[in-house]
Amino acid sequence: MSKVEEILMQLKQASDQPLCAYVYDLDHLHAHVSGVVSQLPERCEMYYAMKANSERPILEELAPLVQGFEVASVGEVKKAREVDRRIPVIFGGPGKTDEELMEAIRSQVELIHVESIHELRRLEYLASQVKAIVPVLLRINLAGPFPEAATLHMAGRPTQFGINERELAVVMAQLALCRYVRLEGFHFHSLSNHLHAPNHIALLRMYVQKAKQWVEEYQLEISRLNVGGGIGVNYQALQEQFDWPVFVSLLRDFMEGEVPENWKLMFECGRYLTASCGYYVTEVLDLKENHGERYAVVRGGTHHFRLPSSWQHNHPFEIMPLDEWKYPFARTTWEGVAVTVVGQLCTPKDVMARQVPVDRIRIGDLIIFQYTGAYSWSISHHDFLSHPHPDHIWLRSATNKWSLTGKVEKEWTY
Ligand SMILES: *Cc1c(COP(=O)(O)O)cnc(C)c1O
Repeated sequence: MSKVEEILMQLKQASDQPLCAYVYDLDHLHAHVSGVVSQLPERCEMYYAMKANSERPILEELAPLVQGFEVASVGEVKKAREVDRRIPVIFGGPGKTDEELMEAIRSQVELIHVESIHELRRLEYLASQVKAIVPVLLRINLAGPFPEAATLHMAGRPTQFGINERELAVVMAQLALCRYVRLEGFHFHSLSNHLHAPNHIALLRMYVQKAKQWVEEYQLEISRLNVGGGIGVNYQALQEQFDWPVFVSLLRDFMEGEVPENWKLMFECGRYLTASCGYYVTEVLDLKENHGERYAVVRGGTHHFRLPSSWQHNHPFEIMPLDEWKYPFARTTWEGVAVTVVGQLCTPKDVMARQVPVDRIRIGDLIIFQYTGAYSWSISHHDFLSHPHPDHIWLRSATNKWSLTGKVEKEWTY
């Protein structure tokens, strides 16, 4: 039995309520992220994009492992500072208010990602008022085309992100007038959930070539390129994940052969760092057939775990059999069928996986959704329908403790 399953057994014994919990394996998180970071070649830095999951235990675990945090709001700046007062913070996002920009300056973020010409003008104006030199990267929305095999695109098509590549000349003219804003380099975050390591290098090559061209054209001196996040998780074939060792070995050659010696590359990954440490676990409340389709209705739903409905995908899961059955009548059991896993919400959109073949499923079994450590709880509409929130369980062997947030901390050794 896995560590997570053991804990679920304990949770089941501790309460007679149907189980519903997020379980985070912080040991796994630590091992995974330190492995990823330690393989990076020189002059490459890993930031954590905290919007993927900004729960405090996650940030605490990651702060000593990564170069810094990428944030997109003042709320996230505060979360970063609460965990580590000095950790480098880089600040981006479309639509930053004056107040947010001032707060970013005051809290001495390492870099601000400028997303428009108006934002550049405002930042210069605000920085001049407090006489602060503000280092920035310009976020550029490249025209593309980009390598295939990614799910969400933020550039190369109309989106609200970054400065249109075609307007760069205008922005550069504006920048030349700036006395407080200091250009450190460029920022690109063009796509999300990219699974193919060689294609990801091709993307970086495109970024570096563009930046070299602009340096030449506008006579710039830059030191950093932020190459974004977007390294993916293969939710449809868990055994075939992004090949990090292949990626870093290609990256090493790329750094040596193609990236100017005085440039650093910054990565700001979210999903790839935290997805694999999380599990969303929920109990089967009912099994029923309607109009030829079989449904497993579970405790919770997309108000806890919006990712599968937001992406319209079947989220991978395993069934953990629980033998206990407390009723004096027969237990519904299905074998060798395809089930659609739905939650408790009163909307047909509350679906987490559709028509997935299973060997056996019974009322009262547990469904363990895997890879739910990123963009899962964090993007969900928790209070829609006012059902209770799931437990949040943080597993860490160093302290030999597991804890339920908001509840009494219990001892757990393994
Ligand atoms: C969301 C976001 C990231 C992280 O993206 P992942 O796909 O989770 O790696 C990085 N940079 C920016 C600007 C973002 O908005």
